[in-house]
Amino acid sequence: MRIIAIMNQKGGVGKTTSSVNIAAGLAKQGKKVLLLDLDSQGNSSSHLGIEVYPGMNTIYQVFSHEQPLSAVRQLVGQNLWLAPANMDLAAVDVELIDAEGREFILRRALDTAIKSGDAADLDYVIMDCPPALNTVTINALTAATEMFIPVQPHYLSLQGLSRLLETSALIKRRLNRNLAITGLLLCLYETGTRLAADVTDDLMRFLDEADPMAPWANARIFNSRIRRNIRLAEAPSFAQSIFEYAPESAGAHDYNNLVKEILADEVKLQEAPEAPRAAA
Ligand code: ADP
Ligand code: MG
Repeated sequence: MRIIAIMNQKGGVGKTTSSVNIAAGLAKQGKKVLLLDLDSQGNSSSHLGIEVYPGMNTIYQVFSHEQPLSAVRQLVGQNLWLAPANMDLAAVDVELIDAEGREFILRRALDTAIKSGDAADLDYVIMDCPPALNTVTINALTAATEMFIPVQPHYLSLQGLSRLLETSALIKRRLNRNLAITGLLLCLYETGTRLAADVTDDLMRFLDEADPMAPWANARIFNSRIRRNIRLAEAPSFAQSIFEYAPESAGAHDYNNLVKEILADEVKLQEAPEAPRAAA
């Protein structure tokens, strides 16, 4: 099972759009996928047509130890499950401030689900992270086997990126030695502009010059770039993934290519067995 955190502490870079469409695209390819909405804005929940009503279980119940993941996830499409989120999740930071082992709640919930057979059917867990390095995000990175970082080609993106990579290195050292920083995903890409090309070059140079011991030394930029495409921005209002809303659009084309690239990594991962998961 691949557990992928889609993370950038910057907002508006394409985390939710990528989480939803990667999850939907993998499900379309026959993979069994669970999408965890980890943002209290609940954007990926509403993107997939789930409006949380009072009494509905959300991922908050997992963080408050009220419910197992199996009671929170719901089927939202063929091969696709969602653990929804709403504003309740914003309380987690404060409520868990003194809780021992608070970094491991999500990882334990996933391990329990896997051991009890409730998640045995899953091939992928995709986590849509909030735009913050908060307790929920640390839980995501502690539970993840991989981290994808959506970036918008922008002159300031390198600054935030080094910070994010340093943080993930710390989490890898202290909390999750299995965390691989798989790659950067260029989102909202303006094809043919000088800016996009320049920033892409800068990002490539930054990764090339990485210390070979750095946890991101093997990170790459996904070949598939997600172009700016209005259909991607419209799809959430119709509670549909891009593959349902506009299957012929550039957005569907780009995410389809990305999904193929993600699937191609399965072969590499099988060749390099992961270190045993340390007991949390
Ligand atoms: P984040 O989750 O990182 O805050 P979102 O995925 O919500 O970012 O994207 C921010 C906004 O940009 C949303 O309105 C979304 O619909 C839009 N958007 C994201 N990716 C694209 C794209 N490739 N083309 C056009 N609009 C996009
Ligand atoms: Mg988001």
